[in-house]
Amino acid sequence: MNELIFKILLFVILVVYGLIRVPFAKKCRNNKNIKSVHTLFEKINVFIAWLGMVFVPVLYSFTSILDTFHFNLPFYIRIIATLGLIIDCEFFHIIHKTLDDNWSPVLVIKDGQKLVKNGVYKYIRHPMYTQCWFWIILQGIVAANIFVEIFGIITWGFLYFTRVFAEEKMMIEQYGKEYEYYMKQTGRLLPKIYMSKHSRFEYFEQEY
Ligand code: SAH
Repeated sequence: MNELIFKILLFVILVVYGLIRVPFAKKCRNNKNIKSVHTLFEKINVFIAWLGMVFVPVLYSFTSILDTFHFNLPFYIRIIATLGLIIDCEFFHIIHKTLDDNWSPVLVIKDGQKLVKNGVYKYIRHPMYTQCWFWIILQGIVAANIFVEIFGIITWGFLYFTRVFAEEKMMIEQYGKEYEYYMKQTGRLLPKIYMSKHSRFEYFEQEY
């Protein structure tokens, strides 16, 4: 009975997560891109990550194929992880609203794209990837399933590590000193713990 509750919860949260993306995916379809980086490789990678983030959790929800990979976790831990996923959904929504039509499933620069440095981007360069890491770890805990957890981490991790450095390189090529400066002031996945008074002042005063 308990397991059925988590199977349903995980699926419902996944649907909400998917629905949050729909309007932004529609918007970005109208973009005219002026630059794209290893697009085919990126597309394959996104598909593999999708298997870990969507397909395998859905398999867990609707079939018993993965039930042998179940591990025991206290009920309350799984409930806390479920709440974490709900908060993660809201975080995902806020990030999408901030990035707006600059979001893209693969690495591109659209015509007239401006560097977003407001909202959570004031502190973190890749908040969407931070949110994905939380997501992938939490969903395996909600499912209490070692396959969902490990497969998710490997597939998302592969996309993350092959993408994030290429993305920063692309952004430096596009925005030059502005992005280099932005990198100094922000953390890649988490806010910088220490920023000197001087650079904090410079960061908020600087206009490009
Ligand atoms: N790495 C970011 C965005 C992921 S979506 C995050 O984790 O939040 C990928 C697209 O976002 C890329 O095609 C890139 O052009 C765009 N992008 C990334 N950072 C950006 C920023 N600070 N401002 C504008 N566009 C950005």
